Amino acid sequence: MKRILITGGAGFVGSHLCNRLLNDGHEVISLDNYFTGSKRNIVHLMDNPYFEVIRHDVTMPFFIEVDEIYNLACPASPIHYQYNPIKTVKTSVMGAVNMLGLAKRIKAKILQASTSEVYGDPLVHPQKEDYWGHVNPIGKRSCYDEGKRVAETLFVSYREQNNVRIKIARIFNTYGPNMHPNDGRVVSNFIVQALKGEDITIYGDGKQTRSFQYVDDLIEGFIRLMDTREEFIGPVNLGNPGEFTILELAEKVLELTGSKSKLVFKPLPSDDPLQRQPDITLAKKELGWEPKIPLEKGLVKTINYFDQLLSEL
Ligand code: NAD
Ligand code: UDP
Repeated sequence: MKRILITGGAGFVGSHLCNRLLNDGHEVISLDNYFTGSKRNIVHLMDNPYFEVIRHDVTMPFFIEVDEIYNLACPASPIHYQYNPIKTVKTSVMGAVNMLGLAKRIKAKILQASTSEVYGDPLVHPQKEDYWGHVNPIGKRSCYDEGKRVAETLFVSYREQNNVRIKIARIFNTYGPNMHPNDGRVVSNFIVQALKGEDITIYGDGKQTRSFQYVDDLIEGFIRLMDTREEFIGPVNLGNPGEFTILELAEKVLELTGSKSKLVFKPLPSDDPLQRQPDITLAKKELGWEPKIPLEKGLVKTINYFDQLLSEL
């Protein structure tokens, strides 16, 4: 049994990770400031004696004795991370410094939830880990993209200077139950709009692409990455290579919900990447991992979740 700290443990991905690690027989501590996360995501775990919840902001130092740290604390939806860009940079950068400092002191292994956004609006397709990216340093997305890029720099620097045991995952668009209904990301937006019979908001012409990964596949990738041999630190892409246009996603959601919602076109936000698809050759080789859940199956599970949630509101 390991004792494991998850920053951002009450968020969408963090809550699934709490479930999985407790099921695997570990002791889990969720640290969260509830900016975008919710106690609702972890309330079913509160009676578990091996689960602890701490309200804390990762921009402030924190001390605890653990074996492993998963550093997930950071808003992930463009609406949320652009709400207070300075705080977003602080969360990524000071959060990484604080968690790496902790890992150094207590000799814990630490995994960083990085992102495909480090590739920006990519000029290389599909994206491989050795692509350095195409990021606007002063655009609307830069607080998130550059914050995550500096966090990667801090991770490799703590390894080089202080021998901290690190792992870096570059996560591509992930969806599933426990996303916030007002999260603003495309999968939750489309499903909630379809279920409520509201217009489906397509930004731009809807021909931009994304590759959507179901959350269970990501969690399996996380666990395998944490357990890789010590010399393997990543960064490694974790995503589903199935690439869809936003219009295709909207049509799939309409088909699966049976909704009569209409598609409406809205302006494309600035710096919105045109295309995104992970090359997962490295994850296959080092982790023996690839996603198992196709888009349609994952969407059905997510639709069922939101259907239930909306009926309770
Ligand atoms: P989320 O917004 O649901 O979860 C983030 C969690 O971090 C929330 O519970 C939030 O309250 C918490 N948090 C934010 N700022 C904090 C702070 N200063 N101190 C403590 N807690 C704080 O997002 P998610 O989709 O679960 O993303 C989890 C991680 O994975 C993030 O680091 C994100 O950048 C990364 N990621 C996610 C995706 C995706 O598609 N879901 C893609 C790439 C990267
Ligand atoms: N998008 C959309 N309608 C929405 C929300 C998002 O057309 O209601 C588009 C958005 O412009 C982007 C894609 O869907 O091209 C994915 O957006 P999301 O915010 O989910 O993630 P990211 O852009 O960070 O990949």
